[in-house]
Amino acid sequence: MIRLSPFARLFYIGLWNFAYCDKGHLPDDALGLKLKILPADPVDADELLAEVMRNGRVSRVEAEGKTYLWMPSFGPWQKTDPRWKTRCPACAHQDSLILTKTPVSYAESHQSSALREENQREEKRTVITHALPSAESVFDAAYLHWPKKVERKAALEKFKAAAKRIDSEALAAHIVRFGDAYAATTDKRFTPALGVWIGHERWTDELPSAQQGERKPTRTDQNLDFVAQLAREQAQQQRGLTA
Ligand SMILES: [Zn+2]
Repeated sequence: MIRLSPFARLFYIGLWNFAYCDKGHLPDDALGLKLKILPADPVDADELLAEVMRNGRVSRVEAEGKTYLWMPSFGPWQKTDPRWKTRCPACAHQDSLILTKTPVSYAESHQSSALREENQREEKRTVITHALPSAESVFDAAYLHWPKKVERKAALEKFKAAAKRIDSEALAAHIVRFGDAYAATTDKRFTPALGVWIGHERWTDELPSAQQGERKPTRTDQNLDFVAQLAREQAQQQRGLTA
């Protein structure tokens, strides 16, 4: 599997929050998603989407002339809740959904000059490979997963301070992991504010777990798996850089 650039990884982590349904359907709107997930970063939305599609993490499906994005590895971890189906426009056409063979990015199918497009895409790739996400973008992608949205500014300051001691992407991965676990198991009243949580370096704690009874169907398991993979890739990259 091709390695994702840091921006594409943040984008993919962010996508989980905007799925229509437990199957992992999303609106086919690269720009709209980019604006929600990485609003301030100078990266091209179509290129981000193309990257996660080349990587196999997102596909495009079609039903009755409308296209949707689909995260194939999202579904198997979800416990389907029938209430979601009615709200997902892709699931509404479940029987006629097909994988599309259209080009991976919207831009590819809508550019008139193939040559000019190729040049532009080269430029965009350069931006993505050489630029790094700001600490705030990394923070925001992770913050999407924190169920208690209070004192974002204080949390961001703590994040920046902690990022001097621990790699910011690794810290973001911890926040995603714990945020999803809190969301799945803990009443918001008992979930710590993120700034406090970071200040006490609580990522070394055990993950919060449900006391008893049925566990709410969540994205936690899938996220844990993906975050673990990111952390491994990150460690490999760092070893590669320092070697
Ligand atoms: Zn759906």
